[in-house]
Amino acid sequence: MRILITNDDGILSPGLLALARAALDLGEVRVVAPEWETSAQGHAVTLGRPLRLKPTRLFDLDLPYLEAYRVEGTPADCVALGVYDWGGADLVLSGVNLGSNLGHEIWHSGTVAAAKQGYLFGLPAAAFSAPLEAGEPDLKALIPWIRKVLHHLLEGPRPFLVNVNLPPKPKGILWTRQSVRRYGGEVVPTLDPLGREGYWFVPKPQGEAEEGTDRWAVAQGFISLTPLRLDLTDGDWLSGLARPSIA
Ligand code: MN
Repeated sequence: MRILITNDDGILSPGLLALARAALDLGEVRVVAPEWETSAQGHAVTLGRPLRLKPTRLFDLDLPYLEAYRVEGTPADCVALGVYDWGGADLVLSGVNLGSNLGHEIWHSGTVAAAKQGYLFGLPAAAFSAPLEAGEPDLKALIPWIRKVLHHLLEGPRPFLVNVNLPPKPKGILWTRQSVRRYGGEVVPTLDPLGREGYWFVPKPQGEAEEGTDRWAVAQGFISLTPLRLDLTDGDWLSGLARPSIA
C-alpha cells in the first residue's frame, strides 16, 4: 500500500514525522509537504505559477529512510503533486496537526483540506489533529492510537474521508458528528511597533459542545472520528422547496 503523507504545518513539523512513523507498518510511505506553514489556508490551490517537488531529508533517528519532498504550495497542492509524481497512491494522510480541527475549524483547516483533496481523487483519506490546549502533544504516546485508528478505518468501507482529533491521553475512540456551534468571530484591534492599526480575527466557538459531536468527544477525553462528505448541499432546504424552478 502506497501512503502519501502531508500536513499544513510544514515539512519540519514533528507531527508529520509522528504520522509517518505510525503509517510505516502499513505500507510504503512518501512525504510531500508544504515548505512553510500553511495553517488555516483551507483548500487553497496554486494556479498562478508552476509548482516544484524538492527532495528533502527528514531526520528522525528511529525512522528508516523516508522519501520526502517539500513544495512551495498548499496542502492540496502537495496531495495533487504527490499523487501525480507517484503515479497514484492508496491512502492519503494529513497531520498530525499541532492544534485541533474541530467543528468550525474544519472549514479553515489546511490539514483537513489535504485529506479532502485525496478523497476528491477517489482515495481513502484521513486528517489527524491534536489539540494544543494542554501544551505540545506527546506525539510518541499518540502513535499507537493513530495506528489503532488507521487499522480500524482500513477494515471498513473505502474510500473514506475521516477527520480525526486526538486528545492528550485518550480514553477510547468515538465516531462523532461535526459540531456546528457558531463562533464569535471577534475582531480585536491592535497597534504594531510603528503605531499602525491592525486587527486580530478571533474565531472562537461560543457555548458548550453538543453531545455526540467532535468537540464534545475530545473534551471528554476520547479520540473523535468524524466521517466527512464532499456534498455540501442542504438536502432539507432543497426537499422543502415547493418546486425547484423559480421562474
Ligand atoms: Mn496547522
